[in-house]
Amino acid sequence: MKTYKFRLYPTKSQAEKLADTLKSCRVLYNCALEQRKVCYKQFGVSVRRLDQQTELLEIKNHFPEYKRIHSQVLQEVILRVERSFQNFFRRVKSGNNPGYPRFKGRGWYDSFTYPQSGFSLSDNSKGNQRLKLSKIGNIRVKLHRAVKGQIKTCIIKREVDKWHVCFACEIEPEYLPKTNKSVGIDVGLEKFAALSDGCIIENPRFLRQSEAKLKREQRKLSRKKNGSNSRKKQKIKLTKIHRKIKNQRNDFLHKESRKLVETYDTIVFEDLKIKNMIKNHHLAKSISDASWSRFIEYTSYKAESAGRKVIFVNPRNTSQDCSGCGNTVKKNLSERTHKCPFCGLVLDRDVNAAINILRRGTRPGGATAVAGL
Ligand SMILES: [Zn+2]
Repeated sequence: MKTYKFRLYPTKSQAEKLADTLKSCRVLYNCALEQRKVCYKQFGVSVRRLDQQTELLEIKNHFPEYKRIHSQVLQEVILRVERSFQNFFRRVKSGNNPGYPRFKGRGWYDSFTYPQSGFSLSDNSKGNQRLKLSKIGNIRVKLHRAVKGQIKTCIIKREVDKWHVCFACEIEPEYLPKTNKSVGIDVGLEKFAALSDGCIIENPRFLRQSEAKLKREQRKLSRKKNGSNSRKKQKIKLTKIHRKIKNQRNDFLHKESRKLVETYDTIVFEDLKIKNMIKNHHLAKSISDASWSRFIEYTSYKAESAGRKVIFVNPRNTSQDCSGCGNTVKKNLSERTHKCPFCGLVLDRDVNAAINILRRGTRPGGATAVAGL
């Protein structure tokens, strides 16, 4: 499955319909949740999804606003309620202490789904493409890249003041030609990542700039009076910056992971789960953490559909061992160069680690996990 996301440009009346649909779906979600809750608490009865979906007919008779929504969209809302309960019970079973499924307040329910039908794309000439949504209309959409494969589901999403459509498509894997190249990758704070062949992926500058801006605007927000109009405005401004950073970061991660998968047959990462356990405490929780795991996730699923292999290894001592002779060369975090007193090797600290990671991954029994082929 592959997901495409495009911006929608609804007219004013279409935007109103979209917002009304979203609101009605949220109300329905909360009611369905309430029904399950009450039935279980008061009568010990578990409500089934099919029963709730059958009741939709009656709801439509009593509340005409639900007649103005495609029936599969409503059924999918009930499915979401069921899923949230399934997730809840699964986590209870696995010994966690999850929160009970919650009611969705305004702003906490931002999408509705056409699970199979009720939507179609018109392939008009560029610049005039339309997404036809049942009961809503022909909405202008900007398809900035070609949609490959068959569209299975269509999700309409609101992000603050903008509307998007996400298509989940089923595509055949396209295996890339072999390159006979392998790489080890060390993710770090100083640089985004170092590769065993000496390449460096720098942290992108635009991200640092946006993050600095975010901090400035956050400080401004803290100075605004609670409940004031200017505070509300500032909050919207912040949400927009957050969204921009998220998009920029995702673009960057997609681009870099695509390059890796195109260039190498085998890609070796440190196992971040293990790394987090043995990590130095003052290094803990940085923004980078989330980026790294997403980077690895993107690389893994791209590798899978390209016929590549991703290997994970235990990160212990990868930065301390000499990649030339195997001896341990102790260094603290501030030492950026690896200088080996045993064999004379001088190398960027992170590249040295990346070579060790590659070696560990290609050694028999060295992998803690494997993704892809
Ligand atoms: Zn050495």
